[in-house]
Amino acid sequence: MTKPWPANDRIHLANVHVPIQGLAGDAPGRPDEDGLVRLDLVIERGIVADLLPAGSVTGGAVCDADGGMVLPPFADLHAHLDKGHIFRRARNPEGTLVGARASTRTDTERHWREEDVEARFEFALECAYAHGTGAIRTHIDCFVPGQAEISFAVFRRLRERWAGRMVVEAAALVSTDLYDAPENGALIDMIAESGARLGGITYRLDHGEDPAVVDARLDRLLTLARERKLDVDLHVDENGAPSSTTLAQVAEAVIRHGFEGHVVCGHCCSMSMQEEPVWRRTVGLARDAGLTIVSLPLVNQFLQGRIDGGTPRWRGIPLLRELKAAGVAVALASDNCRDPYHAFGDHDMIEVFGAGVRMGHLEAELDRWPSSITTVPASLLGLAEGGRIRRGGPADFQLFGARDYSELLARRQPDRMVIRGGRHIDARLPDYRKLDRVVARSQIVHTQ
Ligand SMILES: [Zn+2]
Repeated sequence: MTKPWPANDRIHLANVHVPIQGLAGDAPGRPDEDGLVRLDLVIERGIVADLLPAGSVTGGAVCDADGGMVLPPFADLHAHLDKGHIFRRARNPEGTLVGARASTRTDTERHWREEDVEARFEFALECAYAHGTGAIRTHIDCFVPGQAEISFAVFRRLRERWAGRMVVEAAALVSTDLYDAPENGALIDMIAESGARLGGITYRLDHGEDPAVVDARLDRLLTLARERKLDVDLHVDENGAPSSTTLAQVAEAVIRHGFEGHVVCGHCCSMSMQEEPVWRRTVGLARDAGLTIVSLPLVNQFLQGRIDGGTPRWRGIPLLRELKAAGVAVALASDNCRDPYHAFGDHDMIEVFGAGVRMGHLEAELDRWPSSITTVPASLLGLAEGGRIRRGGPADFQLFGARDYSELLARRQPDRMVIRGGRHIDARLPDYRKLDRVVARSQIVHTQ
C-alpha cells in the first residue's frame, strides 16, 4: 500500500476485499468465486462501526483501498520460538529430522540460557507481529534436564510483556514416552501453572512395532490431561512411513476416553503415503474425535523426502483437501524458523499460506482456506472475535495492495499495513544483527 493511513478517529475504508470466512454476521455483499466480498469498513475510535456495501457514502476521512484485500489478524497455531534463529551456530548438513534433533540437542546443552532463549524468542515475536500475527502457540523443548524451567520462565515473561499486542501460548514438547517418566511430575505441575498444554511426539516407523505401546501412553496422557484440565497438542507421524498410523490412534484414544479437552495434531505427514482405505479411516476418526490438524508446509517440504542427496519425491503435507472435505478443522502454521529443522522462515503467515496453497493445490477452493490461518487457529488461541471482523469488534486487520489471491500470493507483500485498534502499528521487522550478541560467530559448532 502506498497510501498513508489516516490518523482520524473516524475512517471510511472504501473498496476492500474481505474473505467471507473472515466476516462475522451478514456480509454486505455477495462473495466472488474465491469467497471475497467487496465492501467498505467504517472505523470509529478503534472499533468497526459498520460494514457497508462497496461505494457507500458516509462522513469521515475516506481511505480508498482500490480493491485491496483485508484479512483478520493471523493466528499461528504451531511454532518453536525457543529454538528459532540458531541456524548460524547449529546447522543440519543432511537436512533430515534426525540431523535436526541431534544438532538442536547439542545447541540446547551449550547455549540455551535465559538470555539466549529470551532474545531469540522475542525476535520471533517481533517478526510475527510485524507480519500481522495476533496469536501464536509455541512448543517448548523439554528434553534436556533443567531446560524446561529456563524456557517456560522466558515464555511466561514474554507472554506478559506482549499482552495486548499478541496472544502467546505454549505446549510442552517431550519425547515419545510422553509423560511416563516419573521425573515428569514436576514438569506437569509447571505446564499446568503456566497455562500451557501437554505436548509430545507419536509415530510408528515399522509395522513390527506394537501399537499397544502408543495406545497405553495415549491413555495415560489423556487421563493426566483430564485430571489437570489441560488441552493436548502433539507432534504426530512426522515421517513418510506408511506404518505410521498414530494419528488414528490419537483419534481412537480421544473417542475411547470421551476426552472433553481440545486435541491438536501437528504434521501428520505419513497419511499421504498410506493406502486409501487406511487414510480414509483415519480421516473419519479425526473428524469423529474433533481433532484439529495443523500442517507445517514450509518445514515439512524442507525436512521430508530427503534421500541421500537426491531430489525429494513427495511434499510432506497431510491430505489437506480430503481432511477439509470430511469436515476436519485444518490449520496451516509456521513451525520452525532459521534453525536445524528449517534454514529459512520468518513467521509470516502469508508465506505459510502460499506454501500450503501451492503444495496442496488449494487454488481451486481458495474460498475455503483463509480459515486455516485465521478462524480455525484463532478460535483455539482465544484471539478476539475468533479471527473474524464484525460490527462492534476491534478494528484489527491487515490491509494489502493485492486485490485477489493471485496478487496476494505472487509476492511477499512487504508493504502490507497492520492495523490494530484502528491505528497503523508501523512495526518493522527486526534486523538480524540484533541477535549477534547471542548468536555470535564464535559460538558456531559444526556437528558432523
Ligand atoms: Zn513442530
